[in-house]
Amino acid sequence: MSKIYWDKGHGGDDPGAVANGLQEKQLTHKIVEYAMSYLEENYTGFEQRVTRTGDQTLTLSQRADMANAWGADVFVSVHINAGKGTGFESYVHPNASPQSIALQNVLHGEILSAMRQFGNITDRGKKRADYAVLRETKMPAVLTENLFIDSNDAKLLKNEAFLKAVGEAHARGVAKFLGLPQKAKPQEKSSDGKLYRVQVGAFKDKSNAERLAKELKDKGYPAIIV
Ligand SMILES: [Zn+2]
Repeated sequence: MSKIYWDKGHGGDDPGAVANGLQEKQLTHKIVEYAMSYLEENYTGFEQRVTRTGDQTLTLSQRADMANAWGADVFVSVHINAGKGTGFESYVHPNASPQSIALQNVLHGEILSAMRQFGNITDRGKKRADYAVLRETKMPAVLTENLFIDSNDAKLLKNEAFLKAVGEAHARGVAKFLGLPQKAKPQEKSSDGKLYRVQVGAFKDKSNAERLAKELKDKGYPAIIV
């Protein structure tokens, strides 16, 4: 059972970067919530926790300490950049383990390609920095800076579909890194989400009902005879 620790950057008294009517702490909350839901829906073999469920205030050391105390296998800290630049970048500690670098590689690729579904996104690179949450955590740890709150990037940060895609990409990256098994797909459904029922009683004999059911199936509409 793999243990995943999510860190929603900032929170409570510390809103993080603020611009264009956006607060970093609210965006990191949404992205991590989308990531956690996506993991729940699509994967098994893991437990996950998060530094704050709501708008609590936490120090950087508290975040790292909680992940260490739980014995997390992975730590991902989600942030939004500021400084009027553009694009996506990710960080590991300057003394990062090979596992941290492997996690950075898979997360960076997943997140960038998800972002690029929404337009041209600058790849600012896989970077290293002596950030407290990276220095003080004992497990593979990566920090992501998901676009700039105070530039034209804010347009995308106001798009809920974009935040969801970024969250889901974080989840897929972690799942790939840990090799989490995917959940079995639910019962097959047609593109309109319906399962068609062919009532035998409506036909002169059962073979006609069977023929219609087969025709429906061939056209991509799952049908059962009832
Ligand atoms: Zn931040």
